[in-house]
Amino acid sequence: MEKTLVIIKPDGVQRNLIGEIICRLERSGLKLVGMKLVQADDKMVEKHYTIDPSWLKTVGVKAIESYKEKGLEPPNNDPVAVGKDVLKRLKNFMTAGPVVAMVWEGNAAVSLVRKICGSTEPFSAAIGTIRGDLSPIETYQMADLANRAIRNLVHASGTVAEAEKEIVIWFKKDEIWDYNLARDTILYDANWRV
Ligand code: ADP
Ligand code: MG
Repeated sequence: MEKTLVIIKPDGVQRNLIGEIICRLERSGLKLVGMKLVQADDKMVEKHYTIDPSWLKTVGVKAIESYKEKGLEPPNNDPVAVGKDVLKRLKNFMTAGPVVAMVWEGNAAVSLVRKICGSTEPFSAAIGTIRGDLSPIETYQMADLANRAIRNLVHASGTVAEAEKEIVIWFKKDEIWDYNLARDTILYDANWRV
């Protein structure tokens, strides 16, 4: 069983998409084991996004590649500089209003939730995903022109190790629940019969 952190970002809360996003996660078979509304501050956002020391570079590489794939010239070709700028924009975005922090648990929870959320740029995210269905007009270019973070509704941990480190930033130990769902028999019990 894996645990993964999901955050409904301020744009998701403001657009009244909390229920829609939770619905999509809930019906997947994953179990909600922690949830609360949080007003984040700059320090939390910085801590969250610098857990992986290579993130600054990978985020920049991803942005530059996305421009090139579309036949466009990236506004900045230095991945680390792009990453530092994205972190600044994220502090502004993620503290803009309350967010919903959640922990979801289940088989392959980390990669399953990433699949349900879709890729970083909503315009490129597959239809059927949260980002692709609910925010498909949002592009890297729109974010860059306005010097703001990409508004893509949700955060989801990238790896199991990342999830472990992220969860402790947002939740105390006693805010994570260990409980049974009757439903889990159907999903996981080898001897299940009606
Ligand atoms: P993901 O959230 O898909 O794991 P990243 O970890 O690469 O994506 O980036 C974290 C967040 O930073 C993204 O969800 C998005 O809100 C924002 N972001 C990423 N790249 C850019 C960019 N080039 N310009 C503006 N915002 C960005
Ligand atoms: Mg990430």
